[in-house]
Amino acid sequence: MARPPLQPTEAGRRRALQAGGALVLVLSAPQLAFGAAIVAVRVWPARDYTRVTIESDQPLNASHQLVEGPDRLVVDIDGLGLDTALRELVGQVQPDDPYIERVRVGQYQPRVVRLVFDLKQAVRPQQFALAPVANYQQRLVFDLYPVQEVDPLLALVREREDASQRAATAAHDVLGELIARIEKPGPAAASSRVAMGGTAAPEAPSASSPAPARPASAAAASAPAASAAAPTASERRRVERLIIVALDPGHGGEDPGAIGPTGLREKDVVLAVALALREKLNALPGMRVMMTRDGDFFVPLQERVRKARRVQADLFVSIHADAFFRPEARGASVFALSTRGATSTAARWMAQRENQADQVGGVNIANVRDRQVLGALLDMSTTAQIKDSLKLGQEVLTRMGRVGRLHKPRVEQAGFAVLKAPDIPSILVETAFISNPEEEAQLRDPAYRARLVEALAAGIQRYFERNPPLARTRQL
Ligand SMILES: [Zn+2]
Repeated sequence: MARPPLQPTEAGRRRALQAGGALVLVLSAPQLAFGAAIVAVRVWPARDYTRVTIESDQPLNASHQLVEGPDRLVVDIDGLGLDTALRELVGQVQPDDPYIERVRVGQYQPRVVRLVFDLKQAVRPQQFALAPVANYQQRLVFDLYPVQEVDPLLALVREREDASQRAATAAHDVLGELIARIEKPGPAAASSRVAMGGTAAPEAPSASSPAPARPASAAAASAPAASAAAPTASERRRVERLIIVALDPGHGGEDPGAIGPTGLREKDVVLAVALALREKLNALPGMRVMMTRDGDFFVPLQERVRKARRVQADLFVSIHADAFFRPEARGASVFALSTRGATSTAARWMAQRENQADQVGGVNIANVRDRQVLGALLDMSTTAQIKDSLKLGQEVLTRMGRVGRLHKPRVEQAGFAVLKAPDIPSILVETAFISNPEEEAQLRDPAYRARLVEALAAGIQRYFERNPPLARTRQL
């Protein structure tokens, strides 16, 4: 590009300086990758898998290797200088991360940054890159999966046992403290411990569980590993009698979902609603909730369906609180699957929006290819599933209408990917529009959320009363 000759004016001098700047950039073109800037680093710890995301303004060239004794994941990123953003990774590892003990970051070679993840257990790492989408620039992702996958059905049974075991131990603690105080008045923390052991021991053999009682702290710490052990006969019997409800809090991890006018994130509010609903439903005899996610991590849409099918769930309820392009849009909606197109343009719009979650959340394309068989199966959605889903949806919608406003008085239908389990009645509940300032405030209000949870639970219960599930032979 021809530039005018240098002019003695201020504007001309600025132009010349800009041209000079551009020249420097061109000269350093072969080293351009070295100039990659790290925008942010994030760690999403979860029992399913821990994800590490490194976001940058240019694609990163990285490789990884596993080292044993002790277990480490070593990642080399080529053409990168160590900077403060990358150093922040060290502080992002949580003490309760199931997989990562700590991270060390260093300039391994002049042009190579090395990350060493010291691991708590052996992992199956997956590395992939994501192109810019939504508010994200380039993302380099490491997903650390357990070597042995957690069996969700077995985890469901044992989670409950561990909880009651912890409750029993806590009760013993209180009893022990009391006895200690009666026997030895005055401050005697050590003696209360002795007294607790004395009262707990004789009662332990009378416990109905055939397995020896595990100490509460050990059970909690080894929860993921416990699922690897073979199921007992009594666990098998119990699981066959359960009614299992799959609750699916939308979004999570890298995918925040919709964000309200004052910053409330959909992924947080739907998780809070789902956890409260789990508590309510688990209190009902014979009913157990399986959560597709119970923390802040991303779960691909197909994986949510796969989890529900693995436990042979009797119902699937996806919970959302989305934004709409009109801020005045308001009210709750309930959706079922449609195989023929949407019942309204708004329903189609919502389904398209929800189905984009995998791009924002960041799905590993290699995994999707592995699951093409499942994908084909999921597309064979039966009309029976949709018929049952509409019944379930109507029960839930009726009760939600008593708590707040409804967007539409009937269950709508569209092609939501997450509702495609061919054999499980599945609905997606938009609890409110988080984009509506009034409804965002309601979603923040614990009292309103409690009423919402009450309505969802009542609708689900009513559905089971009218449509008792068929006996299932679940394979543990
Ligand atoms: Zn959503």
